[in-house]
Amino acid sequence: MKSVQEPAKQLINLLDFDRKGLAAFFVGIGEKPFRVNQLLKWIYHEQVTDFELMSNLSKSLRAYLQANCQITTPEIVVEKLASDGVVKWVLETHCGNRVETVFIPEENRGTLCVSSQIGCALACTFCSTAQQGFNRNLMTSEIIGQLIVARQRLGEGQRITNVVMMGMGEPLLNFDNVVAAMNLMTDDFSFGLSKRRVTISTSGVVPAMYRLTEACDVSLAVSLHAVTDELRDVLVPINKKYPLSELMDACRDNAKIAPRRTITFEYVMLDGINDSLADAHGLIELLKTVPSKVNLIPFNPFPNSIYKCSSNNAIHRFKIALNEAGIVTTVRKTRGEDIDAACGQLVGQVADKSRRHLKLKLMEAERESVG
Ligand code: SAH
Repeated sequence: MKSVQEPAKQLINLLDFDRKGLAAFFVGIGEKPFRVNQLLKWIYHEQVTDFELMSNLSKSLRAYLQANCQITTPEIVVEKLASDGVVKWVLETHCGNRVETVFIPEENRGTLCVSSQIGCALACTFCSTAQQGFNRNLMTSEIIGQLIVARQRLGEGQRITNVVMMGMGEPLLNFDNVVAAMNLMTDDFSFGLSKRRVTISTSGVVPAMYRLTEACDVSLAVSLHAVTDELRDVLVPINKKYPLSELMDACRDNAKIAPRRTITFEYVMLDGINDSLADAHGLIELLKTVPSKVNLIPFNPFPNSIYKCSSNNAIHRFKIALNEAGIVTTVRKTRGEDIDAACGQLVGQVADKSRRHLKLKLMEAERESVG
């Protein structure tokens, strides 16, 4: 007789829950909410993944967790160390796609740049992740898992003090999972990072920005890159849906969370495209009513990119103009370039479901046949 195979039991990954999610989970199985702190401590402070070793949980609870739950992160498949100390990890998810995480050591801090999606559904024309297309949102476990594996791999004296959600993907299009992961990053029983040291970066998904203001008061960075709708429509196409005036309203709303709060505006420097003095003055005008800092990002080229980085002179001139208008402006140091770990160079390996890849190939073929 042919035996009917039972489908493998789906284990619950406890890394998918923040404090609130875990409390609901425990109440659902008839346990008291105080288990939350115990479990968080075991997982994130003690770094224990074997339920049997969680000695302050009751025997029956340990047995239940053993039978129904797991604590698993994506696996590191590649680790690259750049000459400037930057480390890039390529992580493989259970579905075989790959995402990237980057650690950037500085004198007094260590910043982890974390991915939120497999690929990206937005089509910013100067970003290499965009060229990869999109597969799916990362689960909370796959986002917080990036901190867990990075922490395990980092050497003596290297610590994650800051997190920026600036890896692959648009974090605000994966709202719930990203917020749960950021809750874990800032929870004292988990990573315990200060809210000011966790930054979410968005290309401007306006409705989600309002939701974020309500849900979570981590720091906000906005990828601006242009000061007119005409140009921003091209560089950051989501601007066609949420134009600059609506974006700036959402920024003002977010700035209300706390006094002295500033929003960081990221501005990629593209030669002859957005780097003139007129652009700088446009930016000053745009930011007049928002408490802001500006981070100028020298463009990092990637294969087939159609832009060039602005000259050092142009970047300097732009910075001085903003400084003179009283806007704190920094120029982002390009790090990890020799291992393709710099901004906009993270690509992983994405089985594209948006078929962007195909569309780009067709466009290329058309261009070639015309030319
Ligand atoms: N989707 C989010 C998170 C990505 S953050 C966002 O747009 O904010 C990555 C940052 O690097 C963004 O500011 C992005 O605009 C910038 N970036 C992308 N490609 C780049 C490139 N080739 N050179 C320099 N910066 C780039």
